Amino acid sequence: MARQHPIERYRNIGIIAHIDAGKTTTTERILYYTGKTHRIGSVDDGTTVTDWMEQERERGITIVSAAVSAVWKDYQINIIDTPGHIDFTAEVQRSLRVLDGGIVIFDAVQGVEPQSETVWRQADRYNVPRICFVNKMDRVGASFQRTVDMVKERLGANPIPVQLPIGSESNFQGVVDLFSEKAIYWDEGLGEESRVTDIPPDLIAAASEMREHMIEQIAEVDEDLTLKYLEGEEISIEELKSALRKAVIANLAAPVYCGSSLRNKGVQPLLDAIIDYLPSPVEVPPVRGFIPDKEKEVERPPEDDASLSALVFKIVTDPYVGRLAYVRVYSGKIKQGTMVYNSTKGKKERIGRLLRMYADRREDVDEVLAGDIGATLGLKNSFTGETLCVASDPILLEAISFPEPVISVAIEPKTTADQDKMSDALQKLAEEDPTFHVRTDQDTGQTIISGMGELHLEVLVDRMLREFRVQARVGRPQVAYRESITRPVERAEYRYVKQTGGRGQYGHVLLELEPGEIGSGINFTNDIFGGAIPKEYFNAIKKGIFESAEAGVLAGYPVVDINVRLYDGSFHEVDSSEIAFKMAASLAFKEGIQKGKPVLLEPIMRVEVVLPEEYLGDTIGQLTARRGEIEGTEMRPGNTQAVKAMVPLAEMFGYATDLRSGTQGRGAFSMEFDHYAQVSESVAKLVIA
Ligand code: GDP
Repeated sequence: MARQHPIERYRNIGIIAHIDAGKTTTTERILYYTGKTHRIGSVDDGTTVTDWMEQERERGITIVSAAVSAVWKDYQINIIDTPGHIDFTAEVQRSLRVLDGGIVIFDAVQGVEPQSETVWRQADRYNVPRICFVNKMDRVGASFQRTVDMVKERLGANPIPVQLPIGSESNFQGVVDLFSEKAIYWDEGLGEESRVTDIPPDLIAAASEMREHMIEQIAEVDEDLTLKYLEGEEISIEELKSALRKAVIANLAAPVYCGSSLRNKGVQPLLDAIIDYLPSPVEVPPVRGFIPDKEKEVERPPEDDASLSALVFKIVTDPYVGRLAYVRVYSGKIKQGTMVYNSTKGKKERIGRLLRMYADRREDVDEVLAGDIGATLGLKNSFTGETLCVASDPILLEAISFPEPVISVAIEPKTTADQDKMSDALQKLAEEDPTFHVRTDQDTGQTIISGMGELHLEVLVDRMLREFRVQARVGRPQVAYRESITRPVERAEYRYVKQTGGRGQYGHVLLELEPGEIGSGINFTNDIFGGAIPKEYFNAIKKGIFESAEAGVLAGYPVVDINVRLYDGSFHEVDSSEIAFKMAASLAFKEGIQKGKPVLLEPIMRVEVVLPEEYLGDTIGQLTARRGEIEGTEMRPGNTQAVKAMVPLAEMFGYATDLRSGTQGRGAFSMEFDHYAQVSESVAKLVIA
């Protein structure tokens, strides 16, 4: 099948925003104007196109990154949905990995909100070129310039306004395009039509000043233009746009647009901007990866006849078609009905159907080519973050790293009939979402689910009910503590011997333990040379250690961040067995933790509270009482203050209510997981008790 569009005409983009900034509304308008939806959905009455999952509609938030395709001016735009709520930050991260550019939406009243800051920094990390859209220009208190200033100061970015709003708040009518020096108006209605006129007289001076500033800013990031500018030479619009394009792709600048998606104003210029300034798959660096089992890094060009390299970035259990794996193809192609090699797993899999998702329909395609995104049916063993390639020329792309869950609840089925359905549902949900874990508590037999926040778990329990029809009761949220050691242990030994008639059991291991880096988990190295322990028992030993690490010695929480070295041991010609070595390793490890001065670790959250100034003192007091460490305060627009603090998650339950009553409903807060830290002895005693 020939390409519908040459690869230069592809744009893989994400719309990135703080919750409520208007991502869903803007996506809706984009899909409408690109002609793929027949009517404008509205978040407020729950009829959006992208939010096809029911509870997303109810909550009005977008949780799952699906990819939707649209065509604008003969360009194929694949929109990868990214969630705005920080509980779903792993979703943002995974989508940033596969997109080539982003539109960052800001609320013209709120400006840069804490979560916009978080996602902006994530986008920095993945070098995602960006354009900015200042939405909600129709709201009372909207300010284009203030938002631009905040982008510059708070995000340390280089925003270049390329438009000037015409009117503001209820009088917002359209924009001045600073390149063409024309005014664009959208009258009432759905905004398909716009009127282009001369700049209104009262804005001529401001527009010309802003244009001058824009030219200067663009000239600054382009060497050729810098010279021309300094010499006072005329610079053409084409030259400006092409320099700006280069600067955006190099992450040196971000053009800023404005509008009101809800009022259907300003969205089409944003679509043009996607084409004009965001890169095609051939304008981003070629994907890199490793040849499996070799330390050699290789590159794959974004070409159809190169060997296949593709990343599975999302698994969705679609109620109609089944298990869909969304893939981004970086090089080569995926064809329907062919075998691919999952190099993460070392397994071959068959591609069933291939689908392209539009807002209102799915379309079967024969193949997905380099630079494109598609959904595959039929992959059974491939999961988020895994690489697909061909077995004859394998490559392993860098996996997406996800944070460990910080909060858990016990969950039980309401009826025995729900029992099997529940484990099936939980397993499917965990497949879709790498930050959602399910385990069985060894002591109580209870099923424990863990995730990134209360909302995260609530949404998942909700989905169980709606999509899988499983009724479940959930317990109170618990902090997911961890255990670790604080001093090295040179020798932890266990000799497992059983002699009860018949064949005995014998396994003997010596381990060395030392505290590992934060977030490193359990690192096992095997230093046995010369046959103190035969090779066939190594795996059992490793298994014993990892199983033992699932429950620590203090309060049974998972043990993390320890380097374990197996350095000696002994065996018995007849009595040794895998089981015996596994037991010995497990018990030696336990003994090691005991000796290593074990401690409890707890998740610490980065909290930001925004509130009117008069409540500042009380709020700081409240946070301190919750064992919070205040990192600083900052003035925000409208006589509000932002307090930044690090607070243990355990102390944040019920904070929303306290804040509300303490500030008469005028304070708001956001939090996100930052790191694990040691719990003080007095607090640890309470937790262990
Ligand atoms: P998301 O959470 O970023 O997806 O934001 P939504 O698109 O769901 O919008 C959040 C709320 O803001 C909804 O009530 C929208 O109707 C409203 N909204 C979105 N865009 C605009 C806008 O341009 N102006 C105004 N006044 N409200 C808007």
